Amino acid sequence: MFVPPRAIEGARGHAGAFRQVAHGCARVSTAPERLERGGEHILLIELSWASHVIRVAHLKTIVLVCATVASLFENDRSQIAIEVHHTRMKGTWMEIVDGIHRFDTGPFNWYLIEEGGRLTLVDAGFPSHYGVFVDGLAAIGRTLADLEAVILTHSHADHTGFAARLQRETNARILVHRDDRDAISRQYVLPWAGLVSHLWRPFTASIVWHAVTHGLLRGSRIPSADVFDGGDELDVPGHPTVIHVPGHTDGEVAFFLAGRGVLFSGDTLVTRNLYTGAEGTPQVPSHGLNTDDELAMVSLDRMRDLGTVTMLPGHGRPWHGRMDDAVRLARQLPA
Ligand SMILES: [Zn+2]
Ligand SMILES: [Zn+2]
Repeated sequence: MFVPPRAIEGARGHAGAFRQVAHGCARVSTAPERLERGGEHILLIELSWASHVIRVAHLKTIVLVCATVASLFENDRSQIAIEVHHTRMKGTWMEIVDGIHRFDTGPFNWYLIEEGGRLTLVDAGFPSHYGVFVDGLAAIGRTLADLEAVILTHSHADHTGFAARLQRETNARILVHRDDRDAISRQYVLPWAGLVSHLWRPFTASIVWHAVTHGLLRGSRIPSADVFDGGDELDVPGHPTVIHVPGHTDGEVAFFLAGRGVLFSGDTLVTRNLYTGAEGTPQVPSHGLNTDDELAMVSLDRMRDLGTVTMLPGHGRPWHGRMDDAVRLARQLPA
């Protein structure tokens, strides 16, 4: 699965292979995700075995994460310069919005905010994703010394993974909502009821396998952390505002960067079904994955008036659009 250059030409608003799904965001028939900012186009394409990133600056330069894909573009090298940028296979990263980087490690996403050369990590994957993070830092010319804070959307182990290691090895602060503070000090915190009851599904089984092979059993216990509450503006790079959206967990939050129009939605709204693996529109995690399904749905009202955002979820691809539409779409889906 790949995007030929002619499909990229189509992205400029002609028919091509692209289907406009929201302002500034399109989906390609071969399944890539495209975001646009200014004159720059960003594509996230997915091969059968990994996700890869293509970045198109003014449709002149394509930066690929996979050399294999580069060869697919050879016929059109005269038209579009191609640069192999990153070849790591354990995960990928891409800059979504200026200074906002997305790390993609399987069906688990986490993010990095840059501000004035200082960094805030939003969630921390599983313990073994640490190497992907360090490589990503190097790729953007940063080091662990630039990391000032790790802010957690909630206490599940797929979001807290290497935070404890960063706490030991750097001066970074760890911050979490008051109501998930106790949970991050425990081991193996995952929504086990849903995962175990759906373990017969290949995708759910693959998630649990990924967790076990990427450090779940090593544990990601975080002994100490600072706490925040809903409505706080955090004094960390990016200065995100906390929106408390309980239901997935008691202390589940989204982080909003009003100035950049970015919402880190954690697992309040995701765009991938964790039972089937299907990519889709914004949705609350399926029944069995939330502490309180009904509350998770009701709490969405706290995000519906944020206007147009680039929503960066804990699972699934970025989504761009109005948050009242995101909430409406989530409520239309069966639980
Ligand atoms: Zn979760
Ligand atoms: Zn999660």
